[in-house]
This record gives sequence, C-alpha cells and structure tokens, in this order.
Amino acid sequence: MKKVPFFNYPELYNSNKEEFLKIFDEVASRGAYILQNDIVEFEKSIANYCNVKHAIGVANATDALEMAFHISGIKEGDEVILPSHTMTASPSAVIANKGIPILVDCNEEGMINPDLIEEKITQKTKYIMPVQLNGRTCKMEKIISLAEKYHLTIIEDSAQGLGSTYRGKQAGTFGLAGVFSFYPAKILGTFGDGGMIITNDDTFAEKCFKFRDHGRSNLDCEMWGRNSRLHNLHAAFLNFQFKSFNKTIQRRREVAKLYHKYLVDESNIKLPLFDDDNHFDTFQNFEVLVNKRDQLKEFLAINNIGTIIQWGGKAIHQFERLGLNHFDLPQTDKYFENCLMLPMNLFISNDDVKYVSQKIIEFYKNA
Ligand SMILES: *Cc1c(COP(=O)(O)O)cnc(C)c1O
Repeated sequence: MKKVPFFNYPELYNSNKEEFLKIFDEVASRGAYILQNDIVEFEKSIANYCNVKHAIGVANATDALEMAFHISGIKEGDEVILPSHTMTASPSAVIANKGIPILVDCNEEGMINPDLIEEKITQKTKYIMPVQLNGRTCKMEKIISLAEKYHLTIIEDSAQGLGSTYRGKQAGTFGLAGVFSFYPAKILGTFGDGGMIITNDDTFAEKCFKFRDHGRSNLDCEMWGRNSRLHNLHAAFLNFQFKSFNKTIQRRREVAKLYHKYLVDESNIKLPLFDDDNHFDTFQNFEVLVNKRDQLKEFLAINNIGTIIQWGGKAIHQFERLGLNHFDLPQTDKYFENCLMLPMNLFISNDDVKYVSQKIIEFYKNA
C-alpha cells in the first residue's frame, strides 16, 4: 500500500548522503566546530539573498526572536501585537522579555488581519510582530503605516518565510529585524536546530553578533550575552543545501500547483492562495481549510497519508494554561476547526500528490 508521510526525516539525509558525509569529514577534519568560515559564508549568503546588510546565525529561531526583542530594548510591560495563529515561540519570546503579547484575529488566509490591529494599540504598545506563515508574506502596507503612525517597532517572525516576498521584498526585511528557522522540516532545514536574525541596522547587528557569543567581541566581554551560536557544522551543511534553494522553492511551487490542479473542483476544500501581483509564495506548508476536518484526517491516516493540524491543533489563545485565553478571536477559532496541512516537501512525488488528492475526493464522495 502506498505511503505518504507528512515529512520524511530520514530522506533529508539519505537524499544527499554522499555529499553530507563529505562535508562532515571535511569540516570535522579541519576542527571547524564553532564560529568558523562556514557560518560566515552562510550568513553572507542569506544576507545577500534577502538583500539586507546583516545576518546573524543563532541556535534556533526562538532564540532569534527572544534576542531580537531583548536587543531592541523591550521593557517590562511593553505590549507586542501579534496573531494567535502562530507557534508558541512568537509569544514566548515576548514573555521571556517580560513583555505582554496582545493577540489579534486572523483574516481568511490565516494571517494577522491588518484591519484589526489599530483597535488593539494602547499607550503601552511598542511592537508589531507579523508572522510570515506557511511561506507567504503578509500584506505589509497597513502594518508598516500603523508602525510609523504609532512609533512601533516591527520584528517579523519569518521563521516560515525564507524566500517568500511581498511586492518583491523578502520576508523578514520589513522592520528592524526578521528571523529564520533551519529546523529539519523547514524549507531550508538542517539535522537539528538552527536559526538566524536578519537586519539592516548596524548597531543592532553588532549587538546580536556579540550577544549570541557571551557578549564577547575578540574574547573581551563588552555586554551580558548568552551562548546561542549556529553550529558551524550545520552552517556547512546549509551552505550546500542553499546552493539548490531556488530549485527547492520551485519544486514546492510545482507540488502546490499539482494539488490545485487535482483539487480545484472539490468544493469541500479551500486551497491556499497562490501568488498574485504582490505575493510570491514558497509553500513552507500547504495549509487547507476543509469540511469534516477530523474525519478527513482520520480517513487519510488509514490510507497511510500523514497530515498535521498546525501547532498541535491550537492557536495561542486556545492553550488554556498559557493564560492568553481572554482574547476573543472568532475568525481564528473558526480557522482552527477546519485547517489541515497536507504533505508538502521535496520528498513527495507527483504520484504521491495525485494519490493524496484522489483520497480526499474519494472521502467527500462517500461522506
Ligand atoms: C518553526 C517556527 C518557530 C521556531 O523556530 P525554531 O527554530 O524551532 O526555534 C517560530 N515561529 C514560527 C512561525 C515557526 O514556524
């Protein structure tokens, strides 16, 4: 029986095993484990690609967000506006800095609804954190103009956004800083955790470079910091993977097009938007809205098709014990009754996409 896992972790390695073994051997033989040429090269590549001045390799995107808020000078009690459809990492970066997350409802795409931001702004609001979800960048004009009007700093959670653009501008480059994640299942994923901060601000960047390495510069401690360095070995693997990043994006877009082709006439499923004059989408995830979501998920599982409801099935305000359930977010609640992520990665074949689509159609025929 055919099997389509949601993500194929072994294949991340096995698909380029020879190359990765060579890289491991070459880097380890040099003893180049911490902050060596490979990370410098990777930081340059990402900075160039995103057309920003600085990229700072860190341990993961959660650290990247936490550091970005800390270094930008967040104070206790500062309010940060963000969507509820995001990973806990986004509000936890605020909480870790004694800030207050203020959650905003989503629009039909599942992204922060820019029209609902202004009513949440108070004297205490200091930041907006848009989340560039699923490989799509938010409509940024309104967010930027609100930030200007109320003197708010934009820090983007673009952990899922690498390569996606809005009006030709890369995710992560719209405010003071953006972050990326190199978690294995991310669009550019390594064999473990990894992350990055990007920025055009020289002073901010200099502090990030120091902060991730114990506040040091040339071994002199110039400020308090922490250890949050992207492993040099991971950077070496990522340098190799980044060479084919355009192909990676292209393939994901092909898979998305195939899903669209097969499922366009199925009225029980709402497919993610695909490009337009402003957006370039990279499909970090292929998140659909479906009727009878839980039954469909179960039916697909019986047919060996792996699907995931993002964040374990809950938006931030729906995790009772995180204490943010006082936010009233009807659109997000509705979204989380219907959302489901279909397999979307480099390791699924055109046949797999067809099989998944056929099974979805079959489910609704018999439902
Ligand atoms: C993956 C992810 C993160 C966290 O990234 P890590 O590198 O795992 O810390 C943060 N925000 C979003 C939206 C993510 O998808």
